[in-house]
Amino acid sequence: MVVLDPGHNGGNADNPAAINRTVPAGRGQTKACNTTGTATATGYREHQFTWDLSVRVRDLLAARGVRVVMTRPDDNGVGPCVNERAAIGNRAGAAAVVSLHADGSESVGAHGFHIAYSAPPLNAAQGEPSLRLARLLRDGLRSAGMATSSYIGSDGMSPRNDLGGLNLSERPTALVECGNMRNPAEAAVMTTPAGRQRYAGAIAAAVLDYLQAGG
Ligand SMILES: [Zn+2]
Repeated sequence: MVVLDPGHNGGNADNPAAINRTVPAGRGQTKACNTTGTATATGYREHQFTWDLSVRVRDLLAARGVRVVMTRPDDNGVGPCVNERAAIGNRAGAAAVVSLHADGSESVGAHGFHIAYSAPPLNAAQGEPSLRLARLLRDGLRSAGMATSSYIGSDGMSPRNDLGGLNLSERPTALVECGNMRNPAEAAVMTTPAGRQRYAGAIAAAVLDYLQAGG
């Protein structure tokens, strides 16, 4: 069973009190429950992108017999908070947890995807299994023709100690930042169904690779 975690939510922007309250984020940190996410210059919002992409990945995995749990049921709600998103994967005993996001950098020319993973790991699941999952996602997106990030991490990989969903996970976990929504070329891919299907195909194939290697 796999947990997909589409970043943000459609109701977040209208509910600042709910999403700005602080929650535990691991390593002794606290963070806002959730955030509104970014958007393309034409107003296509990250929560719309991550929801649509998650549905596509879910459907591809389900067609291969993989049971999928989502951290939110639709794109109209508020949250859940980052600690609750992690708890959903933990309670489910997920073989893999994949969070889906897109970035919003205004730096000129900033483009490309990166995969964030918890480092240094706080438990065994955050160690080798999470790193292997992250590398398979990186390799899969690169094979699908996506460029690795020009401005974050190295070779498409970004070790992080400040992301609550990763810190609090007790299951193999990685977070995909699919690209930069403020980059016109990447926004053009993300705003088309065919472009999102390309991302979904690469992500689903990587998750299947991970599961077939024994999780
Ligand atoms: Zn995001």
